[in-house]
Order: sequence, then C-alpha cells, then structure tokens
Amino acid sequence: MERCNKCLMPDDLAGSDFDENGVCSWCRSDYPPYDLKGESVLAAKFKGLGAHEGEADCLVGLSGGKDSTYALYRLVRHYGLKAEAFIYTHGGSNAFSLHNAQTTCEKLGVPLHEVSLPKDKHKKAFLHYFRAWLAHPNPTSAGMTCVACKHLHILGSQIATKRRIPYVVWSSTPLEYSPFLAIKHRGDKKNPFKRAGMLQSAMQMGKEMIRSPKFARGVLADPHTSIFGCLAVFPSSSYLRYRFPQVKSLMFYAYEKWDPELILKTIKTELDWKLPSEIKEDWHTDCVFNVFKEYMFQKMFGASYTDSHLSNQVRKGFITREEAWQKLVESKQFYAASLLPALKFLDAEELMAQVDADCFEIEE
Ligand SMILES: [Zn+2]
Repeated sequence: MERCNKCLMPDDLAGSDFDENGVCSWCRSDYPPYDLKGESVLAAKFKGLGAHEGEADCLVGLSGGKDSTYALYRLVRHYGLKAEAFIYTHGGSNAFSLHNAQTTCEKLGVPLHEVSLPKDKHKKAFLHYFRAWLAHPNPTSAGMTCVACKHLHILGSQIATKRRIPYVVWSSTPLEYSPFLAIKHRGDKKNPFKRAGMLQSAMQMGKEMIRSPKFARGVLADPHTSIFGCLAVFPSSSYLRYRFPQVKSLMFYAYEKWDPELILKTIKTELDWKLPSEIKEDWHTDCVFNVFKEYMFQKMFGASYTDSHLSNQVRKGFITREEAWQKLVESKQFYAASLLPALKFLDAEELMAQVDADCFEIEE
C-alpha cells in the first residue's frame, strides 16, 4: 500500500486513481467541494427573522466538541441571537463532553436540553449491527452501527417544533466527508451538503438483509430505531422537512470558515473549554462507538475517517502533510488501545477474540 504524495490517502481505496506523480484523484479535484456562503449571508438570514413567537431564535445541536461550541458562541456573541442548545446523550460519551457543553451554556446564559433514546436502545442497535459486521464485514453494516445516533436530528427538531424555534443549527463540516462512506456525498460545488438518494441507501440495506441473517435480525429487532434513523440520516433529509415543516436546518460551517486554530483559541479563552490531558485529538474521540467506526473502516480499507479528515485538512492548507502524519499515527495508537476498554464498556468483551487491533499498525 502506498500513500498519496500530497495527502495521506492510500492507493488501494476505490476511486483513489493515483497519477504518475503518486497523487490521488481527491488531491487533483481538491476534494471535498467547499464553497463558503459567507458571514454576511448568514447575518442577512437572521435579519429577516422578524418577530416570531418562539422561545428562541435558534436551537444549536451541541456535542461538547469544539465545532458546535464555537458555532453556539458565534451565534450568541457575534450574531446576537437568542439561542437554546441541546445535547444528545447515548451512554457512550465521555463525561467531559457533557461537562464542556454545560459549562459553555452556563457561560453564554443558554438553556441546555438533554435528549436521548429510551434506555439501552442506542447500545443495542450498535451491538446488533457490529455483530452483523463481524460476521460479514461491509460498508452497509458498518454505516448502520451509527443509525441510532441519527435520531438526534429528530429529537432536536422535536424540541424546536415544541418551542417554536425557527432554526436548528448543525456544526458538521464538509472537511469531515470521506470518499469511502456507505452513503456517498455528491461532489456538487453549489451545494456541498447534498447527499446520495434515500432509494439508493434503501436498496443497499435490502440487499444486505438478504445476504446477512444477522444484519436482517438487527433491522427487525428494533425497526423503529433503524428505519427512522435512516430516514433522518442528514439534517437536510426530506423526511425531517416533511415531518417538521416549521423548522429549518442550518449548517453553520456552510457560512463561516471552519478554522480549527481560531476555533480552539476562541473557545479556550472565552469559554474555558478544555479536553482531558490524555486526549490528543479532539475529533470524535469522546464517543465510544466511534472507536468501532474507525476500526471497521480501518479493517476493511486500511484507512478510516481520520485518514480522510486529516487528508482533507492537508488539501485545504490547514496542516502540513508531516503534521497530519504525526496526528494519524497518534490516532491509530489511540484507537488500537481503545478497542478493549470500549468492548468492556459495552459489556461485550467476548467479541475481543474476533477483533484484530493489529490492523491499526500503519507505515509510511
Ligand atoms: Zn492525495
């Protein structure tokens, strides 16, 4: 396996298409498409907000991570909005993310709502699909391990509807896109957040149900969590627009530049946001389920979401290839060491024999 001379993507990934200089197709096309709409467009949107009868102007989905914290900070302090926030808890987050979310909201004087699925539903859905993946590894079952989490889009929209809040704000960025997702993002310059169709995803699921009895059992064990999670997979899903017509979803980083250095500097000084010292990389490392997501893609493709996220940052000039490589090595060590504790946390230690932590060993 060789890695791209410009970013860190390996040449054995489908679509990598290295040229004679050892440069991948994603570097050549400056993946992912990311055209900012700009601060003034966002400000203009809020100017037209007018008098509504809601409890607040916007409801911000807060994870406790840096990106959503910064989005909330900007909406309150820079755009002068009356905001509320909500956090989705699933029993698999580290305590520091909830703590960060609470501190942030206290400092900004923002009410924080905590939402979750009924007891153990998230964990059960995860384990069903992870077991299905172990029996038959493929991107569909790997993607479905995160299906319960998509309910946060529904739960957030429900709060906004109930409190008549016109906007729900989300903080994912196109720099988090991966070219190997089960559901592919279309490279549309005008609308980088546009995704592949629901029908295509449903067909992939149907095929996998026929191929894998364990996967089918996962769907049937709790059809509500699986089906509605799929329907609400993105904040912009048509299902959400249909079910919550009063609520508009807003992707904060479609308007403001995602600048990790500025974000960290701001929230550390203004909001006293911090990570525990043992956490070196702040991207998704607070979620126990993410350990397995990284693992499954690493095992299947020899690269995971972190490879893609770091490569995107190299391409867009946020970090050098050397810095990214250092972060990548640290991340692989972190995830290799996190597998067993994560399985213990989920009371699924017996699965350790079926898991191969060595796949996280990487070389340049
Ligand atoms: Zn590349």
